[in-house]
Amino acid sequence: MASTAGLVVDIVDLPQQIGAIKNIHLDTVAPADLGAEMIGAQEGGPLVVDAELTCLGNGVLVRGRAEVHLSGQCVRCLRDLENDTIITFDELFFTPEAARAQAAEGDEEADELFMVGDTSLDLEPALRDALVLALPFQPLCREDCAGLCSQCGERLDDLPADHHHEQLDPRWSALAGLLADADAAPAADADDAEDQDVDRRRR
Ligand SMILES: [Zn+2]
Ligand SMILES: [Zn+2]
Repeated sequence: MASTAGLVVDIVDLPQQIGAIKNIHLDTVAPADLGAEMIGAQEGGPLVVDAELTCLGNGVLVRGRAEVHLSGQCVRCLRDLENDTIITFDELFFTPEAARAQAAEGDEEADELFMVGDTSLDLEPALRDALVLALPFQPLCREDCAGLCSQCGERLDDLPADHHHEQLDPRWSALAGLLADADAAPAADADDAEDQDVDRRRR
């Protein structure tokens, strides 16, 4: 996974001493694919991260808060959704030695641990996990979004309350088609229709 320069923080000046703290403030833009399938951070949208990094013996504890501009779609009516949200995350980034020790102890997920780099730490994976957890799997524009009409695909919210479609018995639909053609025919030639009216009056 490509890391984003905007979310990589320098830890050279974080003292290698348990309990040492460094506060960071990032004013950056969101990378692609930060979020869930139907809703996530808008790529290139504003992303402000404040975090407190605490040096622990085996790594760095990151307690962060991110302000993200979300964009997505309602899963029922496909209306565009946009809003700002704040998410928080607490993650431990292991030193490579500590991660190797975890693996040696039989931790099968050791290679999925967040790791501290030599001089920096990439917040992106932690932020990505926190967003995926925080965001709805099926975002809605409203809790009771009525969705789309199953017949015509229009948004039910945009249609009158009594919107419905005639449910014709399929056996009659062919006949309905013929009747519609018959109705349309006289209008196509108004002169003929007038002539017929005259004829009727004469009778
Ligand atoms: Zn909706
Ligand atoms: Zn409809």
